[in-house]
Amino acid sequence: MTELEKTPEVPAMEDKDRIHEEQKVYDIIVVGGGPCGCTAALYGGRAGLSVLVVEALAPGGQMATTDRVENYPGFPQGIGGYELAEQMKTGAERFGAEFVSGEAKKVELGGKIKKIYTNSKEYWGRSVILATGASPRELGLPLEKELRGRGVSYCATCDGMFYRGKKVAIIGGGDTAAADAVYLSRICEKVTMIHRRDTLRASRAYLEPLKACSNVEILWNTVAEEILQEDGKVKGLRLKNVSTGENTQLLVDGIFVAVGNVPNSGLFADCLRLDSNGYIMADSTTRTAVQGVFAAGDVRRKSLRQIVTAVSDGAQAALAAEEYIASQF
Ligand code: NAP
Repeated sequence: MTELEKTPEVPAMEDKDRIHEEQKVYDIIVVGGGPCGCTAALYGGRAGLSVLVVEALAPGGQMATTDRVENYPGFPQGIGGYELAEQMKTGAERFGAEFVSGEAKKVELGGKIKKIYTNSKEYWGRSVILATGASPRELGLPLEKELRGRGVSYCATCDGMFYRGKKVAIIGGGDTAAADAVYLSRICEKVTMIHRRDTLRASRAYLEPLKACSNVEILWNTVAEEILQEDGKVKGLRLKNVSTGENTQLLVDGIFVAVGNVPNSGLFADCLRLDSNGYIMADSTTRTAVQGVFAAGDVRRKSLRQIVTAVSDGAQAALAAEEYIASQF
């Protein structure tokens, strides 16, 4: 039995856990309204539990910023990420799940009643499912933060339209970079992909469409060393070929960064175990080492992060929460 599989003692209810009469206590609070959170809400609601989903932005998380989802079963022609997000939210609401917008700023997960604080409200639950997902990783270059929204973007489908007929660069060689390149090739005059190695990480499904884009050029073995700006806007990149050491300049109007993701787990670092990359440690049933707290979807340590694995985790987490509530309340 691993450490996570041992069942820790449930702490006795302390005075601070006593329930104010006016404060609603949900069976499940889901933090994060992406595909995982929506699925957890649907399964929890359908099991007759009261469920609240706290979502910082719009439902759908990263999926909602995806132009086209082609590998989610049931949609042979593909489906827009935003549309799928709306459908998932509606499906959860049909079973009574409530959605509120607000960013969790503080959590108290140790007691029998768990508390989630946003800037303006606090929410109480018998169990919590953490489905906070992941966010795009930054390059860490000087000026990157200052020029965000002024030529630096992390979401091609959100910002691509600003670069109609212009020249853009995409940094990265994974599925996101390849999908972004195909998407932007339809909008922009020229797309230059900058990849630090000589082969793409992107899966085969993206390679054929990418090859068919005549206005996409790939610069291999190349890294961005500096973002160039003029009048507070992106003007280009200073590049280095890591094989030859050669330095060049690339003039572009926009830079799309697609170099992977980082888990949104910083809020839980003090109370849960994270792995060295910041992913929450939980077992395959999504149970963390804290009773009544479940971690699911992209924020959980696991090998495959896709929409299908996120919804699978969401269903699993709702079931685990249901079992926990039945045994403890
Ligand atoms: P990813 O697979 O981690 O790829 C990140 C890419 O950025 C890699 O090519 C990596 O280079 C490069 N990179 C990382 N750090 C860098 C740095 N500091 N400077 C320059 N390049 C850097 O990330 P992703 O493409 O965002 O995909 C994340 C997950 O989402 C994957 O599991 C992917 O399959 C999934 N996804 C799925 C779909 C879909 O199925 N519809 C669409 C998008 C994403 P190396 O190759 O050298 O490591």
